[in-house]
Amino acid sequence: MELSGLTIRNFRNLASLDLELPSAGVVVLGDNGQGKTNLLEAMYYLVLFRSLRGAKDRELVRFGEEAFFVGGRANGGAFEVRAGYESAGRRKKISLDGNPVTRISDAVGKILAVSFAPSDRGIVAGPATGRRRYLDVLLSLAEPGYLARLTEMRSALKQRNAALRRGRGDEARAFDEPLASAGARVLEARTRWVERWSPRFGALTAALGERAEARMRYRTHRPPTADARSQFLDLLASHESRDLRRGMTTAGPHRDDLELSLEGRELRMYGSAGQQRTAAIALRLVEAETLRDSAGSPPIALYDDVFAELDEDRQARLLNLIHETLPGQAIVAAPRESEVPASMLDRPRWRVKGGRVAA
Ligand code: ATP
Ligand code: MG
Repeated sequence: MELSGLTIRNFRNLASLDLELPSAGVVVLGDNGQGKTNLLEAMYYLVLFRSLRGAKDRELVRFGEEAFFVGGRANGGAFEVRAGYESAGRRKKISLDGNPVTRISDAVGKILAVSFAPSDRGIVAGPATGRRRYLDVLLSLAEPGYLARLTEMRSALKQRNAALRRGRGDEARAFDEPLASAGARVLEARTRWVERWSPRFGALTAALGERAEARMRYRTHRPPTADARSQFLDLLASHESRDLRRGMTTAGPHRDDLELSLEGRELRMYGSAGQQRTAAIALRLVEAETLRDSAGSPPIALYDDVFAELDEDRQARLLNLIHETLPGQAIVAAPRESEVPASMLDRPRWRVKGGRVAA
């Protein structure tokens, strides 16, 4: 997978860019605050139609402007993805090869990329929300139908919670069935993925230089059995009085966690900064392998300032793994050339200053 051309209008501090990208990718250099991360965020917008950093669409519109646009030509022009957003009316429009898509999920994952950033450590060290988001993004990109089920689950949950807040158990119950149907599919996909990839996560963490054994485990109320849907229905029924008291749905996949541990101890609580960073990189590599397997070719790799903070040994180990897993297009951002590994410098360089790009 590669991005061959990129057009940006009023996305963050990037006013107007029309760029051609080489197959190998580019090295993006520039001082702090000039727009390097914004450029990667714009590229990733074409993957998920959401901000990589979790920002709201309206925050992506350039200050003082009304709308932004990002368009990308992929695989040498084989297809084209465009996304636009207008602050007025909060309207988002996505098109594929010029045809508007009605459901965003139909266009999600047409372009595939994996983004590595120092803030990824937050996935390991932060609250469960970040780890669920990691799983949801990855499965939305890798598994057909996952995003649609997730959207259904969220919508049922929202309505059920609204009824619970009004103290209406009878109204809330009407959403149990849609919540359980969609939620069971989400739960099954997540547990299946974690089981399948946990050994690989351990192997990658070891390959990155970690000596302690790393694992991931999906933590849920009750691990799904053959019939996850009716199990979830039972769970909702048994929690109903508590849900009513609290005014929200207190059990379900929206409360689960992806537990990451070293020698059986949770990395979130006991991991050192370096161990958490290593685990975060392993998560991104596992994500890259998952996408590569589902799409049949490696995703685009976006590296935002990730090499500088690794010691030499871990940097060399990471480069080996990248060489295997992500041999395709790489966009490597850093303030200075000295912070980019020598083996990645054999690509054209772009300099970013004040939201402009000079090749
Ligand atoms: P660093 O090396 O510090 O990570 P960077 O080059 O990655 O820097 P970015 O995060 O891409 O920097 O860009 C940050 C700049 O973008 C800031 O100056 C910020 O004020 C500006 N910015 C953020 N959002 C918007 C927006 N909606 N409109 C205009 N400018 C914005
Ligand atoms: Mg940055």
